[in-house]
Amino acid sequence: MNISLYLIMLIRKKPTTLLFCIAFFVNLNLAAQPGLDSLLPVRGLAIAAPPPHFVDSFNLFIEKELAPKNVNTLILRVDYNYQFTSHPELRDSTALSKEQVKKIVAVCRTNNIRIIPQINLLGHQSWANRTNNLLRQYPEFDETPEVKMPEVYKWPNADSLYCKSYCPLHPKVHAVVFALVDEIMDVFEADAFHAGMDEVFYIGSPNCPRCKGKDKADLFAGEVTRIRNHLANKGRELWIWGDRLLDGYATGLGMWEASHNETHTAIDLIPKDVVICDWHYERADKTAVYFAMKGLRVATCPWRNPSLAITQLNDMIAFRKESTKQMQPRFLGMVQTVWSGAPGFVRDYYSGRTDPQRGNNTPHETFRRLFAEISLQK
Ligand SMILES: [Zn+2]
Repeated sequence: MNISLYLIMLIRKKPTTLLFCIAFFVNLNLAAQPGLDSLLPVRGLAIAAPPPHFVDSFNLFIEKELAPKNVNTLILRVDYNYQFTSHPELRDSTALSKEQVKKIVAVCRTNNIRIIPQINLLGHQSWANRTNNLLRQYPEFDETPEVKMPEVYKWPNADSLYCKSYCPLHPKVHAVVFALVDEIMDVFEADAFHAGMDEVFYIGSPNCPRCKGKDKADLFAGEVTRIRNHLANKGRELWIWGDRLLDGYATGLGMWEASHNETHTAIDLIPKDVVICDWHYERADKTAVYFAMKGLRVATCPWRNPSLAITQLNDMIAFRKESTKQMQPRFLGMVQTVWSGAPGFVRDYYSGRTDPQRGNNTPHETFRRLFAEISLQK
């Protein structure tokens, strides 16, 4: 007699058996999660925080898509999309209210998703020909005030302007940015903060009276350490992108996903509890091993190439399996990066839109395939 026939007979004879069966299968299901957690502790999505009108749709997306796909980490680029009370002058013209943030927090908590809010610190203080809120309101924090924003932005350009940076040695900048960090961490009830810090091209400018002549790795590491220490005072941890810590010349990784501006030796100067988000969009570079060997925890971050993301996932799983006891816990997992706004991503995800040039090589397809593969590991 097969087991299911036997169970049916047992249930008919003794109805309470049904309850035991249900409890057994529910338990099996719950038991699956720790397996995935030990295989890949961080299963993340990094995306812009939704605009106010999109909060309910975004929360539905969290419930219906992120949670069932076993996403457990949500890095939300908030920047100035919050109604800051410490510095209302820095709010975007439309910005999330406290109540809207609390709705996102509640949905994530119910679904066991850790929110890591992000504000870009140091770099990314402008985009194209637009100066972002901090340097618009506090132009004295600008590392390169002599570089004027162009009417029409083009890359490359004579100023090598990609994004503006703030001066990490300005005596008043941290009072402002740390007030924002504290406020956002409190409202999101978060224990980790993402400071961005990628693609910082303007650092140690020869025209900055405070930074000129200083070692750029020291400046970068000094800023990372200062932010980390501020967070650590309240038991919070710091996450950053990893590109400034890689040698773009020696690795051939270039000036974007690695450093051509002498910051890479900062890898030996920053505190070991900073978490690195190691983004590579063209190849499955094995740089996670480099970060882990330096004593840093690391998550690998794909973008819009699904098959590359699967290779990166398999690498991450292999790194965790085939390392020493000391190294294994440093390989945290995977974080899918999305650089469009949340509404566009969700819309494309549901419509399955293909890219005119790249076909199915899109962030939403990468996300779908990466997390389908992750869920198979359960
Ligand atoms: Zn400076």
